[in-house]
Amino acid sequence: MHWTEGELQAFLDGEIREPRSGELERHLIVCEVCSKRFSALAVSLAVTEHALDALERPSRGLDIERSQVSTSLSSAPSRRSRRSR
Ligand SMILES: [Zn+2]
Repeated sequence: MHWTEGELQAFLDGEIREPRSGELERHLIVCEVCSKRFSALAVSLAVTEHALDALERPSRGLDIERSQVSTSLSSAPSRRSRRSR
């Protein structure tokens, strides 16, 4: 069983409490699928915050960051096979 994107998002937002948050953390360590999904979400969240910050200083390269996010989001969910071990 995997965590959904909504649950991972809630975890990022601090809305998931013990013991579920502990389960989720442990699952992220062992599950490549969810950890990838989670890091994509974390990146998009960080970029979103950064983007909001950058909106006040319009001279920055927002387009580059946005294209990085959409790349990592679109490649994250369905790709489950590639294992190095
Ligand atoms: Zn999983």
